[in-house]
Amino acid sequence: MKRILLLILSLAFSHAFPTAPETEVKEQDVNFAEEYLKRYYDLETDGKKVERKSGSPFSEKIRQMQDFFGLEVTGSLDSETIEVMQQPRCGVPDVEHYSTFPGRPLWKKTKLTYRILNYTPDMEQADVDEAIQQALKVWSDVTPLTFTRIYDGISDIQISFAARVHGDFYPFDGPSGTLAHAFAPSEDIGGDAHFDEDENWTKGSAGYNLFLVAAHEFGHSLGLSHSSNPAALMYPTYSYNNPRDFHLPQDDVNGIQALYGPSPNPVPPKKPTSPSPCDTNVIFDAITTLRGEIMFFKDRTFWRKIPQQSVAKEIQIEQLWPSLPSGIQAAYEIPEKDQVFLFRGTKYWALSGYDIVQGYPKSIYGLGFPRTVKRIDAAVYDEDRQKTYFFVADKYWSYDEERQTMDKSSPRRIINDFPGIGQKVHAVFQNNGLLYFFSGHRQYEFSMTAKRVMKILKNNSWLGCLDNKIN
Ligand SMILES: [Zn+2]
Ligand SMILES: [Zn+2]
Repeated sequence: MKRILLLILSLAFSHAFPTAPETEVKEQDVNFAEEYLKRYYDLETDGKKVERKSGSPFSEKIRQMQDFFGLEVTGSLDSETIEVMQQPRCGVPDVEHYSTFPGRPLWKKTKLTYRILNYTPDMEQADVDEAIQQALKVWSDVTPLTFTRIYDGISDIQISFAARVHGDFYPFDGPSGTLAHAFAPSEDIGGDAHFDEDENWTKGSAGYNLFLVAAHEFGHSLGLSHSSNPAALMYPTYSYNNPRDFHLPQDDVNGIQALYGPSPNPVPPKKPTSPSPCDTNVIFDAITTLRGEIMFFKDRTFWRKIPQQSVAKEIQIEQLWPSLPSGIQAAYEIPEKDQVFLFRGTKYWALSGYDIVQGYPKSIYGLGFPRTVKRIDAAVYDEDRQKTYFFVADKYWSYDEERQTMDKSSPRRIINDFPGIGQKVHAVFQNNGLLYFFSGHRQYEFSMTAKRVMKILKNNSWLGCLDNKIN
């Protein structure tokens, strides 16, 4: 009801002031930001109206939040900041503000118990049991800790699903927003993990994946706070990765082992299931050139093809860039600026050479994409025209790198301007003035001047594999 009212108000507002610039911060965003900063950044207002001017506590808290998320630190509520604030996230604050938890609380024993107090109706009970067990195993694999399930009495970690007000001082907020929270090690409520029943909990990619959220929450149950490393499990916002490919990022391993030490019987980390790049069935996530090399991204891995070497070298993304997530979806280089851009979901990072540029990740909406675009399938820079083409499903957007704006004609249908390259572009890069499109298991050499496919190749033709050409 409140939301509908706000919508009506904002409509009325925009009719009354049709010339108001779009960049002007809306009242409802300020209210939303105030609530967010109170919840997660310890903003104190004493019931007074917040002052927004620079230097005010409100502005200082925005700076703190922007710094935590690697945004440009301006102290004012720009659209990127609001966007990050709107992402679904953990209910535990990003700054420690409970003087009742001085220092770094941790369990003084290694044999811990857990109990599942109730179930969500969203999932089969057996799937909830499995998700919780696997989420605890994430931590027991790398520490001396063990977790034993009990069915009655009081366990160290009590797990429950609840909506809205639920007996602690941190009521949930309905669908999305806060997903769950957990309490640092101590007696009573310490260690307990609560999941917002107003979310749709799943074992897959729809709604919110219980395993992924629970693994994060149990990090708090064991004494970890939030990490500002976007690749870390303890990063405060939710993002989906296939749980089958889950491995605990190094940032979290370092954090938990600083508290409890390593496991006496370390479980060898799962060998990344990177396919051979010569397997003709491999579908690359993204491809880009970088200072004369070609980089082929797939899940947690990329292959680096250096022109002087016949075989590509396999590297783990985390090894080279610990703060980058796996599953890069699009990438392109602007050679004359020595810049590479990497995309995943609605975020993108800039590299200068091999270094991640400060102030990233940024939001793709800053480039001019509409909110309906949630990910980029592939991207390539056209040197001759100084345009970057972004491929999304069966359309593409054209971005003018010189004017730094999206071309007005965007989006256009791929089939109209790139005939013959397939239904969907998985990856693309430029080489010697030609574009190489990867769609399914095929690769298409495309000439922008001739506006046609010149050659069809196998996906692996650049990687030093034999038998590449189809026709
Ligand atoms: Zn958290
Ligand atoms: Zn709670």
